[in-house]
Amino acid sequence: MAKANLMDYDKALELYEVVIGLEVHVELNTNTKMFCGCKNDFGDEPNTNVCPICIGLPGSLPVVNRKAVESSISIGLSLGCQITPTGGFSRKNYFYPDLAKNYQTSQFRDPIAFDGQLDVEVPSGNKFTVQIERAHMEEDAGKLTHIGGATGRIQGAEYSLVDYNRAGVPLVEIVTRPVFGAGAEAPELAAAYVRSIREIVKALGVSDARMERGNVRCDANVSIRPHGQEKLGTRTETKNVNSLRSIERAVRYEIQRQAAILSAGGTITQETRHWHEDKGSTSAGRPKSDADDYRYFPEPDLVPVEPSTELIEKLRALLPENPADRRKRLAGEWGFAEMEFRDVVNAGLMDFIEEAVAAGAKPQAARKWYSGEIARIANSEDKDVSEMNITPSQVAEIATLVESGKINDRIAREVLSAVLAGEGSPTEIVSSRNLEVVSDDGALIAAIDEALAKQPDVLEKIREGKVQAAGAVIGAVMQAMKGQADAARVRELVLERANQ
Ligand SMILES: [Zn+2]
Repeated sequence: MAKANLMDYDKALELYEVVIGLEVHVELNTNTKMFCGCKNDFGDEPNTNVCPICIGLPGSLPVVNRKAVESSISIGLSLGCQITPTGGFSRKNYFYPDLAKNYQTSQFRDPIAFDGQLDVEVPSGNKFTVQIERAHMEEDAGKLTHIGGATGRIQGAEYSLVDYNRAGVPLVEIVTRPVFGAGAEAPELAAAYVRSIREIVKALGVSDARMERGNVRCDANVSIRPHGQEKLGTRTETKNVNSLRSIERAVRYEIQRQAAILSAGGTITQETRHWHEDKGSTSAGRPKSDADDYRYFPEPDLVPVEPSTELIEKLRALLPENPADRRKRLAGEWGFAEMEFRDVVNAGLMDFIEEAVAAGAKPQAARKWYSGEIARIANSEDKDVSEMNITPSQVAEIATLVESGKINDRIAREVLSAVLAGEGSPTEIVSSRNLEVVSDDGALIAAIDEALAKQPDVLEKIREGKVQAAGAVIGAVMQAMKGQADAARVRELVLERANQ
C-alpha cells in the first residue's frame, strides 16, 4: 500500500473548512442480552453465551430487554434529547459471518431518543455545543478473530474464528449532526466529545465504558470543503476507533490526507476507512454510498417500545450530576493547577482521586500517587488503572502514612508494590515488614557522627560553607538506616553535627 500524501496541517486549515460527524456505539452492561436471556459477559469462553434467539434460528422469538430500554432512555435524557413515545425496531439486512441472523435488529425510523445536544470543552478551554441527531438501540454483532496473518486483519489470514457471545449485546448508537466551526481543533473536539459521552455513561452506570474493550467505540466522519463553499465535501468514515488518542490522530490524519488529494485536483471517495494505530494512518475500507440498501423493514416479531411519561420522569429524576458540572465542582474543591486537572481528566483518574480524597487523602497526594506511580506501573503492565489491585482507600492510607511522617516516599513506593502484590493493607505491610522510619534522633546522630568521621574531607567542606557536600554524608546515613529515615531530618542533623 502506497503511503498517502499528507498536507501540512496548518496549510490544510488555511485552505479548507473541516466538518466532522461522530457515531459512538456504547455497549450497555445489562445482565442479559438485548433480545434474549443469554448472559452479557465479557471474556467468557467463546460461544458459551448463545441461544437460538441471538443466533437467529428459525422459530425463535426475541423479547426486548427492559433494563436496556431504561438505560437507553437515561442516556438520551443526559444528552438533552427528547424521548420517543413509540420506538419500533427494524431489520437491517446484510450478510457477514459475525452476524448469524443475516440482519441486525436496530431502530431505524423511530430512535428511542432524538434532538439533543452536548457541551464539550477542548484542551485549549474553548467550548463547543455538539448537536445530537439521535440515539438508537440496536444489538452488537459477534466477534471475528483472523488467524495466521501478520496484521490480525482478514487480508492475509489463513482462517477466521467467530465468537457469538457478543452477538445480541445491547448497544446504543449516538449520532451527531455535522459539526461545523471547530477549525484546527476538530481532532481535539472529536476526542473530547467521546470522552464526555464516556463519562456520562459511566456516571449513569449503564456501561463499563472501557474503550480498550470496545465498550465505547467511535466512527469518525470527516469531510473538508474550500472556505466559502456551501456544498459539503465528500466524507470518509473511519470505523471503530477505540481510544481517545486514536480518534484525535485519525481525524487529523484524514484532514491532511483529504486536503492533499483535493489540492492536487483529485476527488475523495466516499468510503469507510480503517485506522492503523501502529502506523498512525488510515486505509481504504469499503465504498459507502448514501444509498446503501439494507432493505430495512419493521421487525415483525417485536412490538414497539412505548415508554410511559411516568417512566421517563422517574429516570430523569435519577440522573447523576452532569460531567461538566462535576468537573467544575471538583476543580474548585481540589485546587489543582489547570494543567494538573486537565491531565487528571485526560488520564481518566478523576473517579479514583475523588474516592481517595473521600477516604482521607489530600487531593494533591492522591493526584501524585495516581498520575505518578500507579499510572506508571499500570502502563508498564499494559493495564488500566482500574485493573490494579489497590483501592482508593488504600491509596489514601499510604498518603496518610507519608503525611504523618511514619514512612517516607521511597518506603511508600515499596508499600505500594506490596499492596499491588496482595500482601495486605498499607498499615499491615509497614508493620509486618518493619518499615516505619527511624524518627529517634539518637540513632540518627550516631549514624551521622560515624559517617562524618569516615569522611573528614566532606566534614571540612561543610564547615567551609559548601553545604552541597553534605549529600555524600546524607547518602551514607540513609544507607545505614536502610532508607528508613526522613532525609530532610537527616540533612538538618548533619549540618548541625558538622558545625558543632
Ligand atoms: Zn441468546
